Parts: sequence; C-alpha cells; structure tokens
Amino acid sequence: MLPLASRIRDPRLLPIADKVLRGERLTFEDGLLLYETSDLTGVGAMANQVRTRLNGRRAYYVLSRRLSYTNVCYTHCQFCAFQAKPGDPKAYALSAEEIIRELEKPETAGVRELHMTSGHNPKLKVDYFEDLFRKIKARFPAIHLKVFTMMELDYYARVSGLSTEAFLDRCMAAGLESCPGGGAEIFDETLREQICIGKKDAQVWLDTAALCHRKGLPTNCTMLYGHIEEARHRVDHLLRLRDLQDRSQAAGYEGFLAFVPLAYQNEDNELSAAHTIHETTGTQDLREIAVARLLLDNIPHIKAYWVMISPGLAQIALSYGADDVDGTIIAEEIAHTAGAKTPQGLSQGDLERLIREAGYEPLERDNLYHTFEEPATA
Ligand code: SF4
Repeated sequence: MLPLASRIRDPRLLPIADKVLRGERLTFEDGLLLYETSDLTGVGAMANQVRTRLNGRRAYYVLSRRLSYTNVCYTHCQFCAFQAKPGDPKAYALSAEEIIRELEKPETAGVRELHMTSGHNPKLKVDYFEDLFRKIKARFPAIHLKVFTMMELDYYARVSGLSTEAFLDRCMAAGLESCPGGGAEIFDETLREQICIGKKDAQVWLDTAALCHRKGLPTNCTMLYGHIEEARHRVDHLLRLRDLQDRSQAAGYEGFLAFVPLAYQNEDNELSAAHTIHETTGTQDLREIAVARLLLDNIPHIKAYWVMISPGLAQIALSYGADDVDGTIIAEEIAHTAGAKTPQGLSQGDLERLIREAGYEPLERDNLYHTFEEPATA
C-alpha cells in the first residue's frame, strides 16, 4: 500500500497524518480542519489507517429486530416524524403479549438482538418494563435485550418515581442487557433548544451513559448530523463523547462499544418545514464516519448505519473508517417514518455479500462483539 502521506492532497493535513501514524490524539482544531478540507479521500485514507490498525479487514454485523413499544411521546423533537400525541389515530402502545406475538412472526426467526427505542409515554412505568422484559426472556431466552435511549432511561425513571439507578437495577434484574446510543442528537445547548425542545440537556445524556458504564451495561453512542448544526458543533459533540469514554475507561469500565453517526432524514418533520435542509450527501456521510474514526480514538467500533445512508454507501464507508454495518435491522420504523428510502431490513446473505464485495471479511457478532461461527437458530 502507498505510504499515507502520498494519498493526501491537502498539505494542511500532513501534520494530522503524522499524528495518526504515531497514534497521537487529535485536537479540536484538527477536527475542524478534517471537516473543512476538500481532500475527503485524504481524510478517508487516515481513517482507514486507524480502522485497519483496530479492526483489520473485519466488518461486523448482527441479526437484529427493531421494535418500538410505543410512539406516544410527550417530548417534542422537531426532527421527529415518529412521535404521536395521545388521541392521534396513529398513536399506539403495545402490550407484552402483542410484542411477543410480533416476535413470533417468521421474519424474526434467528434474530439475536431485540433493539427497542420508543417515545416518552407517561402511562408506561417500571412495572410495564419488568413484565415485558421477563416475558420476552421467558419466551426467547437467546435474544439479547437492547433497550432505551439515555433519554428514555431518564424519562421512565422519573415517571416511575425512581432514581435512574434504581430504575436500571429493576430493568436489569428483569432482563435488560444493553442500551443503544440514541437521544444524544447534538450536544450543543443552543442547538438543542432549536431541534429538541423539552428533551433533557446534554449533561443528562452524558451522566446517564456514565451511570450505565458504571453498572456494567454496554452502550453505544450517536450523533444526529446534517440538519442545522455546523462543523464546530459536531467536533464539540465528538470530543464530549471521547472525554466521557476516557473517564469510564480510566475507572475500569468498558464504556461505549460503538459510535453510530445518524444522518438526518428530512421528510415529514417540523425542522424541515422551518428550514431548508437537504438530504445528506454521500461525501457528507463518508466524512462523518471518517472524522469520527479519527477523533474517537478510544471507541473501538464505528458503524455505517445503512438504513440512513444506503447499503451501497455503507460498503464504501468500510474503507472510510467504519468496521460495522449494524445489522439486518428487520422492521425499522423511526428512520422510515422520517423518509428513509432504504429497505425495511436486509437478509444475512445480503449483508455478507455487501461486505465481501467491498473487500472485507463479514463476521456475525453479538452485542459485545463476540463472533459466531454457526448461523443463528430460532
Ligand atoms: S425523537 Fe424520541 S423523544 Fe424526540 S419526539 Fe421523537 S419519539 Fe419523542
């Protein structure tokens, strides 16, 4: 392979390339330059250097089912097309029995992970979740329960009259095994006021994630990009995640397993109605993945979430820092109600083909990045 410096056109990136080769940490200013330069292939080459050092030619995926137990939400995120207020004909809240029936459908056979995030519905309290998790684990003991954004954890603890820690203790005793990284959006406080009125501030998200880490609950982390934020907001967001990961790891916890950049979907929501916001482009999506790989030096995995950026671009993203294409993601609702044009799920064979054709080795994983030799069984 050509030396890294020979693949960089913008000379301003050369000091960053030196740091990358030495394994040195990048600064806020480095992050701004990675967003500003037109040399995207140079940024990608540096990210690929880090990706190869950490994960070789491996590309991970998980057999995953998405499910939202309610779309009723008392919070008001302007980018969200999924929420429904009580009385809305499309409002729903599923009982444990309805969820079990969903999971018994043939398309869920063999799934190893149930990923559930939902609205903030004040009628659902801790006993609903305990009952739900126990029933799911009794019927499908092999399915890993990955549930709650950090904001759902905070919300459902409050409406249950519990501390977040006490709420987590009860949910973990009932079967909760990990948490996705949603609800982070963009941490900048001024922007949060504009895109997610009523959602708790960034510090609540970070404190809740830190609590999960202390309790040994694996989590991911996310950032919503491509709306009204600027490069400085994205760098600030990524460095706040890196800082929390430093603190969790210094205290002996695993912390975040993966970072997932989430591309803003611009249909059927208030934010798009109030501002002219175009769909994110391929170069923007690839840059987000590459910059994340370079700045988040302490987070082991970067996902290319094909639901939002397309399966084809996820293939290319594997050479721009991503080492994980997330998964089969059967029956995803939240991005699709906001206009995602991707399929509602891919087969295991499709995912493996995508990865192989991109020149990488597909590896089926569980939530903790243990890999499987044998296909999943129901
Ligand atoms: S993003 Fe989540 S919290 Fe925000 S309005 Fe939608 S469902 Fe509610």
